[in-house]
Order: sequence, then C-alpha cells, then structure tokens
Amino acid sequence: MSDSYAVIGNPIGHTKSPLIHGLFAQETGQDMRYVAIEGPLEPAQAFADTVKDFIAAGGKGMNVTAPFKLHAFAMADERSERAALAGAVNAMKFENGRVIAENFDGVGLVRDIEVNLNQPMAGKRVLVLGAGGAVRGALLPFLAARPAQLVIANRHVDKAKALVEQLALNGSLSACGYAELESMEPFDLIVNATSASLTGQLPPVPPCVFSPHATAYELAYGKGLTPFLRLARDAGVQGIADGVGMLVEQAAEAFAWWRGVRPQTRAVIDRLTVPLN
Ligand code: NDP
Repeated sequence: MSDSYAVIGNPIGHTKSPLIHGLFAQETGQDMRYVAIEGPLEPAQAFADTVKDFIAAGGKGMNVTAPFKLHAFAMADERSERAALAGAVNAMKFENGRVIAENFDGVGLVRDIEVNLNQPMAGKRVLVLGAGGAVRGALLPFLAARPAQLVIANRHVDKAKALVEQLALNGSLSACGYAELESMEPFDLIVNATSASLTGQLPPVPPCVFSPHATAYELAYGKGLTPFLRLARDAGVQGIADGVGMLVEQAAEAFAWWRGVRPQTRAVIDRLTVPLN
C-alpha cells in the first residue's frame, strides 16, 4: 500500500499541496498518496482527533495550513527550534506513535530568495513588513543568512519588538513602526509578509525604503501585481517576485524530510506561477 500524506486546513479547497506533492512523487518515483483534509473548526479537540484518526489509518505525515498551525504546535511531542520560535507548525511527521513538528515556511522563503532569485542576503539591508506567523517562522532562517541589517516593521510595533527581544541578539536585528522607515537608508531586499495583499490593501510603507537595485518580495501568491509590488515597481524596482516559489520550496523541504529525497522545484514553480503584470 502507498504511504499516506495529507494537508489539513479550513477552508482547504484552494490548496495546491496535493498537486505539488503529486508532481514531486512522480519526479522522484516515490510510492505515496497525498490528499487534502478539511479539518473541523470545533470543538477545540476536534483538530487533534482528526490527526490521530489519520495516524491510526497509517498516515505518515501532514502539512498544516491556516487556521491550524498553532493547534499542530500544541499537539506535537517534539518540535524543531524553528517551530518552537515560530510557535507554529506547518509540517508533521508521525513516527513510533510520536508527532514530530517542523516549520519550513522560513527556509522555503530563504531558498526561494537566495537560490531561485539569486539574491544572497549576506551583507544586505533587509526589511520585513509584518510580525505574524510567517515572520515568526522566517526569523531564524533569515538571521542564518547573515544580512548586515534586518529590520522588522509592523503596525502594532510591540509585536515586532517582542519578537526581536525573544531572540535577544546583537544590533543587526531591530523592530520599528512604519513611520520610522521614512528616516532610514533604503533597503536591498523588502519582504511584504503582512496579510494586507489578501484583501487588496497596501501596508503603509513609504516608497523611500526601495533602493533602485532592490528586490521586492510578496509572500502572498497567485494575485498578480499586488499593491505592494506595484508600489515597488513604481519606485523603479526591477526585481519583483511573489510567494509561489516559497510555497513550492517549503513543500520540497517537507517532502525531503519525509521521504529522504529532495525533488526538483523549478518546473513546479513555473507551472504554478501567475504572471505579475
Ligand atoms: P498573520 O495573520 O499571522 O499576520 C498578519 C500580519 O499582517 C500582521 O503583522 C499584521 O499586522 C499585518 N497586516 C495585516 N493587514 C495589514 C495592513 N492592512 N497593513 C499593514 N499590516 C497589515 O499572517 P501570516 O503571517 O500567517 O501570513 C502573512 C502573509 O504571508 C499572508 O499573505 C499569507 O498568505 C502569506 N503566506 C505565504 C506563504 C507561502 O508559502 N507563500 C506561507 C505562509 C504565509 P498587525 O500585527 O499590526 O495586525
């Protein structure tokens, strides 16, 4: 019988994960099936019960998407350092009756930027907008990439400051509100990790943050030219990208973690890409 995997979320109709993992399995010759599960929102215990049922039926692993990333964190027996800092889990592996939890969102994002877009972060000035779950997952991988400066800007600045304090690091990491960006030097990489684009909104980021040679990266994907990417383009930025590469790269990390073989990602990214103009 094929090994069984799933993605769990609610709603889940939009998910690309079965397609992505199906293509990975085909390419690497892995005997596995991968389905989408709409997890129950209530009662509180229902998410964990659904996961346990999947394990009892022989399930080997799961991806986790909104709104269950915190639920998955809570039910895990073991958590990676990345998952622990994020307080959120996007992949689980089931072994010997234990739930092992990971968060690959950040490594997927860094790999997309550094490898696919060929924009190494070492020595660069990097600005991240937002301080939600995606940013929490991305912070350790971003710091490991050794930017000269990493600034986290958020509407509720206390949230960004709490994240920075949690890491208690040196001066290369700092937090601020949007107004303070007006008086800062431009950045080499600007990442919109807010959820503003999901509702067609623009975070209050001033155009002066974009240096002419900058890369502007939008975490949302499949939405074409979002207000953030349009702002970047109007500021003269040539290098713009959305989060489709991150989506595929985090999936590849989970696949490699489960199956011990890393799939190729380029063709899958190309297949899922929605043009940005
Ligand atoms: P969260 O809900 O955890 O956080 C949302 C963040 O967006 C908060 O920092 C919030 O600020 C900020 N925000 C929301 N609306 C606005 C606005 N109008 N102006 C300024 N800031 C705003 O979301 P996630 O971190 O989980 O997700 C963020 C984005 O990343 C989403 O677009 C999501 O789709 C995308 N994503 C993409 C992935 C991929 O694979 N490509 C993977 C995971 C996420 P405040 O705290 O001040 O309210």
